[in-house]
Amino acid sequence: MSNDPIKVIDEACVGCQLCVKACPFGAIEMDEKLAVIDLTTCTLCGACVPACKFDAIEMRQSEKAQADFSAYQDVWVFAEQDDGVIQSVTYELLGEGRQLADDLGMHLCAVLLGSNVSEQANELISRGAEKVYMVDQPELTHFQDEPYAAIISDMVKRHKPNIFLCGATTIGRSVISRIAVETGAGLTADCTGLAIDPGTKNLMQTRPAFGGNIMATILTPNTRPQMATVRHKVFKEAEVDPSRTGDVVPVDIDKALLASRTKRLTFVPEEDNIINIAEADFIISGGRGMGKPENFDILHELAEVLGGGVGASRAAVDADWIPYSHQVGQTGKTVCPKIYIACGISGQIQHLAGMSASDVIIAINKDPDAPIFSVATLGIVGDVFEIVPRLTAELRKVLGE
Ligand SMILES: Cc1cc2nc3c(=O)[nH]c(=O)nc-3n(C[C@H](O)[C@H](O)[C@H](O)COP(=O)(O)OP(=O)(O)OC[C@H]3O[C@@H](n4cnc5c(N)ncnc54)[C@H](O)[C@@H]3O)c2cc1C
Repeated sequence: MSNDPIKVIDEACVGCQLCVKACPFGAIEMDEKLAVIDLTTCTLCGACVPACKFDAIEMRQSEKAQADFSAYQDVWVFAEQDDGVIQSVTYELLGEGRQLADDLGMHLCAVLLGSNVSEQANELISRGAEKVYMVDQPELTHFQDEPYAAIISDMVKRHKPNIFLCGATTIGRSVISRIAVETGAGLTADCTGLAIDPGTKNLMQTRPAFGGNIMATILTPNTRPQMATVRHKVFKEAEVDPSRTGDVVPVDIDKALLASRTKRLTFVPEEDNIINIAEADFIISGGRGMGKPENFDILHELAEVLGGGVGASRAAVDADWIPYSHQVGQTGKTVCPKIYIACGISGQIQHLAGMSASDVIIAINKDPDAPIFSVATLGIVGDVFEIVPRLTAELRKVLGE
């Protein structure tokens, strides 16, 4: 066999083109009835090998399978902060990262970029990080795509983490995709489950696929680090333990890495979204059953009494009854309140994907067969317009105005 990691055996190829159809990357073309693999496009995924019924494609499995990843150690978590405030998804990742690091016998480390963030570095240690790589620069007070991605990519290349986790937040998604491209690593977005394969020690990254109808477990065995983003509220936060000790490692950077073609001018909070439902302990959500935008007023009243926020199904958002920032579900927010009250929501899988981890789920729906009742802790079969105002009135009596 030549030195090529994959090749077509010309004598065996019958020109059937099955391999051309099987290649997800368009890396195989026909040349005079012979399949030809473009090695610059081929990712060595191996899909063409079993597709060929004539055993005409040979792949040296060892090329990739025996890649030496022994230099890649530790589980890293991107510590997302803004203006010195660590975002709580970071603590959720430290909780899950601790488990992964223990399963691998590796260290759990955090990567913190910001300005005057030594105190925050200690906070990360109390949440389980054994080492915090800290880049402390005034230019890093607020997130900026280019410098953050350039600095972290440089650190990844130098320190070689085995796993790198990041919140599936606006910032997290933006920065980690750049780092994955820069370091040539695989990346799985929006994971809802992470585990270590006991045999291969690869990271098993589970996420909803095909519109939430199946859960897919994805591996990135051919590259390191294994990178994943995880939605907020999927994992429980790591507990604070002030007795934990660890190292804060100040990282010197090449100032050229701070260059940015964009500049932060100002920050404009969304006025409508007074309570961020991703953080709320009580969420009252409305769906198509609410009928029209004005009817959401009864949900706002109940939310006010409970000190919670108002959520919505996609049907209600698509109907323009309430802004997208309130949408709960697969393409909206993932929430994990103490109590989630679903009003006039049928409970389709894409909605459940965003709220089924809530501690207590109360469903109000006039259809006794609505799927929401299968996940509900308490179910009320009835009309939301009767039940919600009565509930609000009773709670007012109990809790006071
Ligand atoms: C790729 C993809 C992503 C998606 N992402 C999301 C997502 O992030 N979030 C999301 O929510 N959906 C999402 N969806 C849409 C999802 O499939 C459903 O269409 C949507 O959740 C339905 O919303 P609903 O339950 O409000 O409406 P419906 O399914 O129409 O249910 C309305 C419910 O209201 C009840 N009802 C009506 N009147 C009353 C009343 N007076 N009192 C009590 N009950 C009443 C009915 O019995 C019914 O059960 C997505 C779909 C796709 C394909």
